[in-house]
Amino acid sequence: MSFSISDILAARRLIRDKADATPLVPSPYMASVAGQDFLLKLEIAQPIGAFKLRGALNAVMNLPRGVPGVVCASTGNHGRGVAWAAKAQGLRAVVCMSALVPQVKVAAIRALGAEVRIAGQSQDAAQAEVDRLVAAEGLAEIPPFDNPFVIAGQGTIGLEILEARPDVETLLVPLSGGGLAAGVALAAKSCNPSVKVIGVSMDRGAAMYASLAAGRPVEVDEVASLADSLGGGIGLHNAYSFRLCQRYLDGAVRVTEEEIRDAMQALYYEDRIVAEGASVVGLAAVLSGKVNLTACAATIITGRNLDMAQFTRIVAGQDVRLGDRVVQGKMYGT
Ligand SMILES: *Cc1c(COP(=O)(O)O)cnc(C)c1O
Repeated sequence: MSFSISDILAARRLIRDKADATPLVPSPYMASVAGQDFLLKLEIAQPIGAFKLRGALNAVMNLPRGVPGVVCASTGNHGRGVAWAAKAQGLRAVVCMSALVPQVKVAAIRALGAEVRIAGQSQDAAQAEVDRLVAAEGLAEIPPFDNPFVIAGQGTIGLEILEARPDVETLLVPLSGGGLAAGVALAAKSCNPSVKVIGVSMDRGAAMYASLAAGRPVEVDEVASLADSLGGGIGLHNAYSFRLCQRYLDGAVRVTEEEIRDAMQALYYEDRIVAEGASVVGLAAVLSGKVNLTACAATIITGRNLDMAQFTRIVAGQDVRLGDRVVQGKMYGT
């Protein structure tokens, strides 16, 4: 496997006119807690409300000529990114999902111009439909994280942060399949080799965290989380993102559902920003004292595509049900 900063620079040239260079803004509240400058990279400002469009665009724009369209099985931000990228390139996009996916998610993908294919009652059935469309119709599958073009696209965020603020010492990156963390870490370290990059996941169901600890890709049980965009496995045959995270991350930490709740509230009440649970894990790591900062730090506010009914409960201090457990409500600041 060869993957280097030149892949990320190439991605930047390719996607520059389509994916936005997002704002990097100070958080005075986080700075007061940390005692250091603290910056927020607002990927919520992308046209799809999340960073995934960077990787999807780079992957779609690197397809060989003549591919009749693209396909994926994601119902979340990756599905939105693929739909948006395909439309921008005038390509057909098919997003496969199970019959259990809520109607709002189906509508969001359709609104971006993709075809939705409902297949079976599980994520596995949706993936089987992807495999069938690849074989039968020659569509190209765009994977959510374990793909060099996807990783390079996400890595452009690291370039933007370090070029704007070369004094960033610690980067806190939400960590799921690791495409974001791998690309950002490689990019940031090529700008400044001494920058520390820490991956942050939720404390239950974090496959990359468990895999890094085990030294090889492992499976974990999926658990409902406020950081739902961080769920899912990394693949037992992971080819890129696991090794890159192993090599370039300086650490990985986990935060609890209560810490995610507190960070969503803090970002909302202090910085007036609405963001997904997955977006605030970097803030949660600092607010909970799990990461100590000694100089300027930054985190990526990765997306804002959340369930607004759940969000309004969280900021109103009400209980939230997650599968078989309840995250207790708590008024902000009490
Ligand atoms: C996908 C996603 C992540 C994690 O990215 P990976 O490359 O899978 O580690 C974080 N936050 C949001 C909002 C996402 O959609």
